Amino acid sequence: MTLDLRASSIDLTRSICDIRSVSGDERVLADEIQAALAGYDHLHVVRDGDCIVARTELGRDRRVIIAGHIDTVPVNDNLPTVFETIDAVDYLTGRGTVDMKAGVAVQLKLAAELVDPAVDITWMWYDNEEVASERNGLGRLARNHPELFAGDFAVLGEPTAGGVEGGCNGTLRVDVTTRGRRAHSARPWAGANAIHAAADVLGALARYQPREVEVDGLVYRESLNAVMISGGVAKNVIPDECVVHVNYRFAPSRSGDEAVQHVREVFDGFDVTVADLAPGARPGLDTPIAREFVAAVGGPVGPKYGWTDVARFSAMGVPAVNYGPGDPIKAHADDERVALDEITACEAGLRAWLRP
Ligand SMILES: [Zn+2]
Repeated sequence: MTLDLRASSIDLTRSICDIRSVSGDERVLADEIQAALAGYDHLHVVRDGDCIVARTELGRDRRVIIAGHIDTVPVNDNLPTVFETIDAVDYLTGRGTVDMKAGVAVQLKLAAELVDPAVDITWMWYDNEEVASERNGLGRLARNHPELFAGDFAVLGEPTAGGVEGGCNGTLRVDVTTRGRRAHSARPWAGANAIHAAADVLGALARYQPREVEVDGLVYRESLNAVMISGGVAKNVIPDECVVHVNYRFAPSRSGDEAVQHVREVFDGFDVTVADLAPGARPGLDTPIAREFVAAVGGPVGPKYGWTDVARFSAMGVPAVNYGPGDPIKAHADDERVALDEITACEAGLRAWLRP
């Protein structure tokens, strides 16, 4: 079959959900998307692996990037999709409906339809978002084709239930290690207990007061949490090492280096090593083009707490927001389902912003 981009965004959502595309297995869907776009002369298409980019080149003075990932988490007996009505709301149920093929379907339909948009548009559909960051198709595209990331504003179609979620918090993971000396637990005075020493690390965490930080008019809530703890040798040995694994989610006004510095201050005197760091993204809602976007799509505007690929755009100098159909609480759930009226509302919102 070939995808028909003239179908309704609801039917298109169903078609692309029923083409399985668990991360690493996106080839068939990417082929379908590329084939479906071939008939539209207003789009210049570039393919990188299983990532498809379609650009208008109308010479407009502004360009926006609109992107979505085409992979899903593993299917769990929830394909093919089905239509159902629950509490008088009509849904399409199945893997990928929320995260995020409804968003992709809306984008594909508008890419085909908008031959004369108000701004130039770079559409991006990419692979491997739901897996480790080094496999991320958008990251690969940025390395291979940084020139495609020229733009004044970006919209990522991740599910936001039709609201606008600006920027995102950064995330830092550190290992805080305490050390002691092994001994037989019958003669503990001969050793030093590293797990007991970790009590001061946990105490610092329990006392910690996270900030709420306003950035470009949105309030970001930070957090600092132990997420794992490891230590111990055997049940009759005084442990010589304990590691508290800590995750710091920090507002996008703070750089990665500043976040590391802050965590080192919190755990002053302890051995702190950085395991993973991804800076956040400012919402970028203070620019005229962003304000036009918010006015056109309507709906509430709030911060994004989780780290998303908007940060990749932000790192390349393009302010970015999340805006897409589907309740994020249903993302990755076995009963993943998107309300049909959210799909059509998102289509209408983007069309109102982009039409000439
Ligand atoms: Zn997603």
